[in-house]
Amino acid sequence: MNLQNLPFDLIVERLNDGVLIVGLDGQIVYANPLMLEILGHEWEDVGGHTLFDFMSPEWAERARENLKRRAKGIEERFDHQFLHSSGAPIWAMVSTRLLEFEDGEQISLVAIRDITARRKAEHELRALKEELEERVLERTLELEHEVQVRREAERLALEESATKTRLLANMSHELRTPLHTIIGYTELMLEEEHMDPDERTRDLEYVLSSGRHLLDIIEDILDISKVEAGEETTRPTEFRLTHLLDEVGAMLSHALRENGNAFLIDNRLEDDVVHLDRLRLKQIMLNLVSNATRYTRGGAVTVRLVEFAGGHLRIAVEDEGRGIASEDIGSLFEPFVRVGADAHESKTGTGLGLAITKRYCEMMGGKIRAVSELGRGSTFTVELPRVLNDAQAVEKTT
Ligand code: ADP
Repeated sequence: MNLQNLPFDLIVERLNDGVLIVGLDGQIVYANPLMLEILGHEWEDVGGHTLFDFMSPEWAERARENLKRRAKGIEERFDHQFLHSSGAPIWAMVSTRLLEFEDGEQISLVAIRDITARRKAEHELRALKEELEERVLERTLELEHEVQVRREAERLALEESATKTRLLANMSHELRTPLHTIIGYTELMLEEEHMDPDERTRDLEYVLSSGRHLLDIIEDILDISKVEAGEETTRPTEFRLTHLLDEVGAMLSHALRENGNAFLIDNRLEDDVVHLDRLRLKQIMLNLVSNATRYTRGGAVTVRLVEFAGGHLRIAVEDEGRGIASEDIGSLFEPFVRVGADAHESKTGTGLGLAITKRYCEMMGGKIRAVSELGRGSTFTVELPRVLNDAQAVEKTT
């Protein structure tokens, strides 16, 4: 085959790439059929126009800069964006070079390959990759969160089990003491045939009081476990707080008198009608006021009623007794905890009163805290909503 005779114009017409010949001012001199197809135009729409008419202003600006470099004889390959007659952007891989004729005229020869499909695929791939990365990140975070939640649950389970073990140990100890007394004195009485009747009566009284104490402990344990098992519901009714406190004062009048204490109610409420579980609140007040008078000699036990934060009440039981050391305040509400001298000596009390009180407060959506100063007295403050919804189910409060 003689290459000299090849019809070059025919080759350019049939070429599988677009071909453009433009003046350095951007004027289109020639566009092959594939180039026209790429742009979606006929030659009549293209001839006599500039290159810049077939791209966005932003890309036209780049094309002008390109042509300036062409004038300096620089050859280049780059990606460029044209506009199809439909307005759709077309991505093209462009290869250009300067052609200079003998008469000094310069033109730019441009070969163009439509890479819209490739760019689209690349774009989709990138989007997919980003989406995948995002999902991996999301899943990783989810997993990290799950691990954290499980660790926290494990930690709580361990803590709960340690608390239960401690509680069980304390409970056995508390039950053992009165039982030892009962068994000890009963054995003694069985062994001694000729016992002095007075001695016999005294020993029997020990047995009786130990038996009663044992019963108190067991009843308190039952109360506390019912609350913890979530079996208890509250039964709110409407009543006057001051009436309830008068009843508490009357029930504890003997204990108050015995220790020479005055019982005062400082009511700063405009309206003392509340809608709460009366029985539970009475038990709370009986516990707090009886503790207050038990540890106070010749002083006052004052119950102060104050309204705060719209619809909430503060009931503070203040005494002028021996007080509680600051290091003991934190453990006061734990079952079987006794502090100060009682830690070793107390034969009355179960060490469960404040633990039950705290749980009853929580059952009614409230809380309790204590402040105290040794030798000066203590204040136990209960905060409660004024109105409790009917038969509220009680959450487990461990
Ligand atoms: P208890 O049945 O032994 O009284 P509580 O749970 O009611 O059990 O109280 C726990 C301990 O807290 C008591 O043994 C006592 O040491 C201390 N305590 C409670 N209230 C007061 C108070 N008002 N003043 C001083 N100590 C108190």
